[in-house]
Amino acid sequence: MRLLTHLLNGSHEETARSMSDYAEGDLRGYRRFRVARHLARCEMCQAAFRAFLATLSSLAALGRREPDPKPELVDAVVERIRAEGDSSPA
Ligand SMILES: [Zn+2]
Repeated sequence: MRLLTHLLNGSHEETARSMSDYAEGDLRGYRRFRVARHLARCEMCQAAFRAFLATLSSLAALGRREPDPKPELVDAVVERIRAEGDSSPA
């Protein structure tokens, strides 16, 4: 019976191992079914999966970050800051 339950509901270990594939939609067929079913029933793995998704989305946000400003733009900003510093009352 334990084996049958395991076959239907998966395990914490399998769910943890498959989390990344599951999140990216790479998990197919029976394995996907089992991870989904396990996640639906296991609060511990749900919490882990949520944390995993949060990490994924912050990584994605990092990837979307604007590229570094052009060097000449940095120079211009530094120049302006310097000029403003010079003109401010001492
Ligand atoms: Zn679990």
